[in-house]
Amino acid sequence: APKIIGLTGGIGSGKTTVAHFIEECGFPVYYSDDRAKTIVNDNENLKEKIKELLGNESYDENGSYDRKFVAEKVFNNNDLLQKLNGIIHPAVRIDFEEWVKRQSKYLVFKETALLFELKLNLQCYKSLLVTAQDNIRIKRVMDRDNKTYREVQTIMERQMPEKDKIKVADYIIYNETNLEDLKEQTERIIFEIE
Ligand code: ATP
Repeated sequence: APKIIGLTGGIGSGKTTVAHFIEECGFPVYYSDDRAKTIVNDNENLKEKIKELLGNESYDENGSYDRKFVAEKVFNNNDLLQKLNGIIHPAVRIDFEEWVKRQSKYLVFKETALLFELKLNLQCYKSLLVTAQDNIRIKRVMDRDNKTYREVQTIMERQMPEKDKIKVADYIIYNETNLEDLKEQTERIIFEIE
């Protein structure tokens, strides 16, 4: 079985950029959030469970997941949100396990924003954290998503503090300069893990 490296980072840290560099180096990356978005539309068993929990309106007339409806439904209802996550997260885990079986490389990466929050690092060989000072991350997301400083800051405040992630991560990339430096750090860490 391949060694699984958990790849994570807070909003605007650059984890997706690092994931792309990793793929350029020839190592496969599983994008958990993207896969979750696909699974809610593809996995019939999961669809039924979501409808049971939140109602048939969770899917529109074409059978597509109604993200806005679901978000409104679980907004300010922590119990429902937990239940929804309790349905989606195990489905992603199974999907990931099936994906791992199809890989032939000895190292594979699992990108997820919630690696430490969901304790998914315990199921990984090592964890790799991408981080940067808050103000740098905020500026990146403002540029990328056309959001205000305050909007990004609000999202950031709801995430696990960087200092707690830094304490538990096996490898850390400080993404505070340019993309060349980021790529170089990524390659160095892959080489170190190998
Ligand atoms: P999110 O969790 O919000 O999706 P992320 O951690 O995946 O964020 P990226 O999307 O990789 O972060 O990076 C955020 C933005 O910052 C992107 O537009 C990316 O191109 C840019 N960026 C990342 N690192 C650098 C860097 N070192 N220099 C310049 N731009 C960068």
